Amino acid sequence: MDSRRRSLLIAAPAVMLGLGLSRMAFAQAKVPENDPTATALGYKADASKVDTAKYKQYVKGSTCATCNFYAAKGAAEGTCAALGARLVASKGWCSAWVKKA
Ligand code: SF4
Repeated sequence: MDSRRRSLLIAAPAVMLGLGLSRMAFAQAKVPENDPTATALGYKADASKVDTAKYKQYVKGSTCATCNFYAAKGAAEGTCAALGARLVASKGWCSAWVKKA
């Protein structure tokens, strides 16, 4: 085996590992309910857990998926413009909800 081929065989797994790690680093994390902005907006990842006594504007059945600030990234999650384009649950809700136009 020539040295160039040996170098390629050694380098290939390292490159693959590097690509995998960089993809993981760029994966977006969902906004946690205890995030300061999310807490201020009363965000819940499950709209059925919204404190309806506190958030009287909550309309039953409204969720992030039906909100104007939401952009779907699959069935279960999407980005929220009101929360810095971070990921939220499609079944979530917060007090900034505006009916999708
Ligand atoms: S602004 Fe809309 S999409 Fe964003 S967390 Fe609130 S309800 Fe969900």
